[in-house]
Amino acid sequence: MKNSLSRRNFLATAAAAVPLGVMSAQAASAAEAAPGKTSTSDRIVDVHIHFDAKDPNFIDNFLKVSDKLNLTGCILTPFQHRKVVADAARKHPAQIIPIGFVELDAADAAQQVKELHDLGYRGLGELENPKKAFVDRSYDPVYELANQYSWIILFHTGIVMREVFDQPEDVSSGRMRPVHLEEIARRFPKLTVLGAHCGNPEYEWAAEVSRWNPNVFFDVSGSTLQKMRGRLNHFQDIFWWTGVGQDTATPNNDPSAFIKLVFGSDTYLARIEAVVGMYRALFDACDVPEATRKMILGGTMAQFLGLPA
Ligand SMILES: [Zn+2]
Repeated sequence: MKNSLSRRNFLATAAAAVPLGVMSAQAASAAEAAPGKTSTSDRIVDVHIHFDAKDPNFIDNFLKVSDKLNLTGCILTPFQHRKVVADAARKHPAQIIPIGFVELDAADAAQQVKELHDLGYRGLGELENPKKAFVDRSYDPVYELANQYSWIILFHTGIVMREVFDQPEDVSSGRMRPVHLEEIARRFPKLTVLGAHCGNPEYEWAAEVSRWNPNVFFDVSGSTLQKMRGRLNHFQDIFWWTGVGQDTATPNNDPSAFIKLVFGSDTYLARIEAVVGMYRALFDACDVPEATRKMILGGTMAQFLGLPA
C-alpha cells in the first residue's frame, strides 16, 4: 500500500509535536503498562497498525513494542504480504491479529478475501481510496463474505492526503464519508465496522452513526488529536449522549458515549506509545470514566477478538 508510508511519515511528524505535558503522561502510562503487573483489562488493542514491508524486521520490532506496552495489534497487511503476517499470527495469536488489505475495485477482490479467510485472517482494512463510494453495490461481494465470516472491517473515513501533485489522481474523500458506514453496518449486521480517523473532520456524523449502530466504532488516529489538542473537551459535544440513555447495545453495557471509540495509532511502531498518551489526554479533557478508558484502549476489541488473558 504505497500510500500508507508517506501518510505515516506525516503522522509521525505530527505526533512528535505533542506537548511536553502529554509526553510525560505517556511515560507514566508506559510504566503502568509494564509487563507482569497487567491484567486482561489493561491490554491495549491497536486496530490500526500498517504492516511496513520496508522494514525487514517489522514483526520482531512489533513484538518488542507489544511486550513493552501489553499491546495486541491488528496488522493491516497488503495482500502480497499475507503469508508472513499469517505465519506470525499463528505463532503469536495474542499479539498479532491479521487483517488483510484488498483493493475494493480489484476484479478478484472477493477471491482475495476468501484466500485471506483460509489463511486465518480476522478482517479487512484499512479499506481506502475506492473508485466509487464505499456503499456502492459493486462492493457487495466483499462485504457479504466478510459478513458471513463475522469479520471486522476497518474503513478509512474522512479527509485523505494527496499523494501526487503533478499527475491525475482518482481519489476522493467524499467516497469515504463516515455516513457511509451506517448503511454498511445495517445491511451487514454481523460485521464489526470500524471507521478510522473518526471521520475527520465530520466528527459529528461519525459519532451519530456510531450511536445508533451497535456494530460501529471509530478510532481517533490521524491528525485530529493534534489539531484539537487545545480544545479536546469539545469532544463532549460530539459524544454527547452519556447518561441520556441509548437504545442500542454497548460493550459491557457501558453508558458513556465515548464507549464508541476504540484505540488506533496509524503511526510508526516507535510512536504508538505517544498516541496512547494523546488518547489519555482526550480522556482527561472529557472526564471519561476509568472503566470506559480501559474498554476504549483495548477491552472492547479484546472481547470482539476473544483475546486470552
Ligand atoms: Zn486512513
